[in-house]
Amino acid sequence: MNNHRWLFLYGPPGSGKSTLARWLAERLEWPCYDLDQRIEQASGRSIPAIFEEEGESGFRQREKNALRDLLGQPAGVAALGGGALLDADNRRLAERHGTILCLTSGQETLFKRLGGANHTRPLLKGAEGWQARLTALLEARREHYDSFENRLSTDGRTAEESGWEALCAIGIFPIRGMGKPYRMIVQTGILESAADYLSELGRNRTTGLVCDDHTAALYADGLTKRLTAAGWQVRRCVIPAGEAHKTLQTTADLWAQFVEGGLDRSSLVAALGGGVVGDVSGFAAAAFLRGIDWVNLPTTLLAMVDASIGGKTGVDLPQGKNLVGAFHPPRMVLADPAALSTLPIGELRSGLAEVVKHGVIGDPALLEACAEGLDGLAGRWEWLVRRAAAVKVRVIEADPFEQGLREVLNFGHTIGHALEKASRYQIRHGEAVAIGMVVETRLAEKLGIARQGLSGQIKAILTRLGLPVEVPLGLDTEEIRAGLAVDKKRRAGQLRFSLPSGTGRSGDLQSVQAGVVIPIEEVLQEVCG
Ligand code: NAD
Repeated sequence: MNNHRWLFLYGPPGSGKSTLARWLAERLEWPCYDLDQRIEQASGRSIPAIFEEEGESGFRQREKNALRDLLGQPAGVAALGGGALLDADNRRLAERHGTILCLTSGQETLFKRLGGANHTRPLLKGAEGWQARLTALLEARREHYDSFENRLSTDGRTAEESGWEALCAIGIFPIRGMGKPYRMIVQTGILESAADYLSELGRNRTTGLVCDDHTAALYADGLTKRLTAAGWQVRRCVIPAGEAHKTLQTTADLWAQFVEGGLDRSSLVAALGGGVVGDVSGFAAAAFLRGIDWVNLPTTLLAMVDASIGGKTGVDLPQGKNLVGAFHPPRMVLADPAALSTLPIGELRSGLAEVVKHGVIGDPALLEACAEGLDGLAGRWEWLVRRAAAVKVRVIEADPFEQGLREVLNFGHTIGHALEKASRYQIRHGEAVAIGMVVETRLAEKLGIARQGLSGQIKAILTRLGLPVEVPLGLDTEEIRAGLAVDKKRRAGQLRFSLPSGTGRSGDLQSVQAGVVIPIEEVLQEVCG
């Protein structure tokens, strides 16, 4: 079954539709279509020849027919001619079948990209020269192109950079590089159709639906009903909420329930909850019957932008966080930002700390949005989750097993984990990371890695979001030391940090430097003053 809809790339000549269509189709493993090419193939004539013989109205009629014909094919990415949606029927049809992404580019860029080759484009032919014709065409269609909700400027962007922007616009992220490729889909309301997506995986339709007390009460009934209607046997496994239960004991309880529920090697574990449910369910799935498939349905902001991406699963030991685990990527991640409406504000803030982290690593637009504070984010959650998730997807793709680049994701975490543990998990993960980012950036400034003032900038954004930025008084120095000492990122007895140098430019992922070694006493001095 194919659940995806069409993606139509539209915009003026030279805006990069065909190149981007190829990039996206390869990435998404979707069919790639070019409407103008299909018109040429169907008629056996070139577009200039059609214009010559039938005029623009003849061409538009063929274009209309070709669009209808195209929609009978398996859904994919389609590059449309620059005037294909001037026709109101065509536009309605495209809107009904998928997403239209209108590419834009400044006139100078279009001139450069089109070069001299466009004497063959019928609408650019004329005595006044193709540049004057293009200018007039853009002017005439300005309002039309501006009327599309999803617009993407390809100015100054490579096909890959535009590609990531396009993936953010549709909220679908193919994740490759670690075992079987899988998709993360971020879409408001997707939990409603989760049963269709799960059925697409072709398992034996027995699932262990793992949730915690809170997500069981809020979301499990609806999901169970829809899964059952789709022919699934659902064994609901409820674990107590909270980090204190991300343990081997909880994992063992899950295994027992999987056995009782009749799960076998072709069954599916579905994790419905925050990072704790995801980590423990994924770990339980990794070891049950030597590994069965699982899907992640993250319901907290932190899980949507961070914990659900990257295939790390695991549990805590009394000695420290995440000390036991496995890389076991899910078969699919479905993130529904609508679930954030029930999330307590403290948990929302906790997730925003990871959003800020991703902003520092590779997307200044996230930092700008967060600098507006919580009120400024109202109505933008889907946008925010997509962009923040995209940063993590890009990082883990480049380094799935944490051999290098992936370490940048640990920014704020070396100190954050130690504080979380020293507070006996009274400080939430994201809150600890917020404090960790400020302290670690101060260390980066001292070491000359960060420009002066960066810690102040990050601190101001976190404060605006209502996150803590100072180490709470009363935390025991020895406990913090012990927390740092068991940090997984410690190698050969040295503490390794991922420290920012600045806030980077969108897409380059170069603003955090991994593997910075700092002696523990220096770190404690900065943490405890
Ligand atoms: P969490 O799972 O404990 O969820 C926080 C609280 O929100 C819980 O009480 C939960 O029941 C509740 N909740 C969840 N969804 C809700 C909803 N939609 N409405 C109302 N309440 C809801 O914590 P978290 O912040 O999601 O995740 C933190 C965990 O994630 C930590 O254990 C951390 O180590 C882990 N993590 C893992 C990775 C990874 O790569 N695997 C990355 C980052 C963090």
